[in-house]
Amino acid sequence: MQRLECPIDGCSATIEAETEQEVMAQAEEHANSSHPDLELDDETVENIRSSIIQV
Ligand SMILES: [Zn+2]
Repeated sequence: MQRLECPIDGCSATIEAETEQEVMAQAEEHANSSHPDLELDDETVENIRSSIIQV
């Protein structure tokens, strides 16, 4: 399993999925619904990706 704890300050969301690709897809949905002001540019996406841990 891959796990991502939302890196946004004050957000305690945790995303888990089988693959990094699925985590990123869910992270994008989470960002769109919970952090609409967050701009998902390449740097932000890379930061999120690097926060994924294998569990
Ligand atoms: Zn969040």
